Amino acid sequence: MKLPINIARLQGEIDTLALITEGQPPVVTRVLFSEADLRGRALVKNLCREAGLVLREDAVGNFFARWEGTDKSLPPVATGSHIDAIPNAGKYDGVVGVLGALEAIRALKQAGFQPSRAIELIIFTSEEPTRFGLGCLGSRLLSGVLPPEKAALLKDREGKSLETWRKQAGCSGRLNSVRLRPDCYSAFIELHIEQGLVLEKTGQAIGVVEKIAAPSTLRLQLTGVGGHAGATLMPGRRDALLAGAEIALAVEKAATTTGSPDTVGTTGILRSEPGAVNSVPCRAYLEIDLRDTLVKTRDAALREIEQAARAICRRRRIKLEMERLNVDPPAICEAALVNAITTICRTQKISCRRMISRAYHDSLFMAQVCPTTMIFIPSYKGYSHRPDEYSSPQQIEKGVAILAATLAQCAGSRA
Ligand SMILES: [Zn+2]
Repeated sequence: MKLPINIARLQGEIDTLALITEGQPPVVTRVLFSEADLRGRALVKNLCREAGLVLREDAVGNFFARWEGTDKSLPPVATGSHIDAIPNAGKYDGVVGVLGALEAIRALKQAGFQPSRAIELIIFTSEEPTRFGLGCLGSRLLSGVLPPEKAALLKDREGKSLETWRKQAGCSGRLNSVRLRPDCYSAFIELHIEQGLVLEKTGQAIGVVEKIAAPSTLRLQLTGVGGHAGATLMPGRRDALLAGAEIALAVEKAATTTGSPDTVGTTGILRSEPGAVNSVPCRAYLEIDLRDTLVKTRDAALREIEQAARAICRRRRIKLEMERLNVDPPAICEAALVNAITTICRTQKISCRRMISRAYHDSLFMAQVCPTTMIFIPSYKGYSHRPDEYSSPQQIEKGVAILAATLAQCAGSRA
């Protein structure tokens, strides 16, 4: 079946959504529940309505656009991604999996396809951790990985809570109503840009994800003693920033000595207070991201970092508060889905490879709910989370074609 995918329309919609930003285009910044995020959501909701899909939204702002199937007794097949964007990001991360999935649905509709199962497009709340320091907020709640009581305690840097933010954004209902019941979906397939170099290097058009790396995040607050940079002599200083700097180096050491090439550790945040050139830093704040495809090596490195942080702070007489924000398991994707997509690629004469997702996505949590996999398309130079992130219309079109064929097959193909 050759589907009437309208790549010009899809590219136009991607470009339009990219103009809804807190930054100056081509910079895309859409932090959860910001004015830009809300306008972006409104745009996508309108496009879904125009496509004849039925919308509903849950208490945390995940929204669902449904194409009803002919057999209402069957659980739907789901697809989707996110439209929130970290500061200074590009226009394809997440968006390709939302607007691309919408185009896949429109193409199937136009081709006269009648799904047996409903097909549901999910737009997840806050895949990016910018607002609350926790990524995949929506899918964590949907899967039950994040208890609603814990989510209700989340606060942003200004101390404004998730409860306040979501109500202000018009999300009603209680957070404990968000969790999906088991068997609510037959499968979940997320289309996404690779955000790495594998496909570009190998010249393949599609990546089918077999495994998603296990992420974890540590948050540390270090409290030392401040003072005048001139008047406080070096002996006996309790400089919180220097302890933080040593910890950042310990992260690098832990990540490079596990023996696994897949371990990656990053101290992405290291802030100090009071932040004046003539003042000894009395406080430092760190966030550390550590991942591996193997839970065992990841957890060993995590423990090593925690031990190092304790030892460094003891030696420097710094008070340490350390918290594991998330320690997630890796996801193993459903073999039957991976095989089905590889076969579809072969039939359509589109090159593909099986691969690991080193970035994590809402799929990591949807894998706890139902059989899940991801379809990757190439990213120019592997760039992502920056304004020059790029995938060509032809690359996107292939991803949409494979997603559409997969959805059709999972929904009961009677085109
Ligand atoms: Zn993403």
